Amino acid sequence: MKTSIPRLILHPEDIQYIPDNITHILQQLKSIQLISELISNTDLYLAGNEFTNLLTFLGCSPNINLNPDDGDQFCSMSIPDSHESATLLGYTSMIIPRCPGCKHKITDWKQHFHDWKKADYIYSCSECQTETPVTKLKWRQEAGYGRFCITINHIHPHEAVPSEKLLNTLRQTGNTDWTYFYATN
Ligand SMILES: [Zn+2]
Repeated sequence: MKTSIPRLILHPEDIQYIPDNITHILQQLKSIQLISELISNTDLYLAGNEFTNLLTFLGCSPNINLNPDDGDQFCSMSIPDSHESATLLGYTSMIIPRCPGCKHKITDWKQHFHDWKKADYIYSCSECQTETPVTKLKWRQEAGYGRFCITINHIHPHEAVPSEKLLNTLRQTGNTDWTYFYATN
């Protein structure tokens, strides 16, 4: 999948969690009609009839395509392969994380990207000397870590949030809470 696509990413709050039955998750998402069919020869699921009710769009008139006939930038859902260890699942191009201790902006985080991709990397603040796991920095829902996620493609940062019904449906598939963030990278 092209990584430049803006997307809403849903993932378990427990960054180590991997569902043991992905088929069950797909069945549940079909039954609430977030998604419908898999597009042949792709890993993309078409939006279902309840797509725009299961996401809460924050603007007054969302300009989204739900059908491939409406253009290439139609909303779809995919489930990337799981990671062997918790890793950075995505981030927006503009995000600058902050230290939770002193709110210091960590402007140079991408200079050590290889370290920052790992969820067990510890950030040591140059201002207040607090040591914080990168997963606990203030990312303002513009980055997230984990081993497993669901991506909803062609949703721009802060354009829409998952409804309670959608998050509850995901929670019930594995008795674990789910959260979300946005990514463009
Ligand atoms: Zn600090």
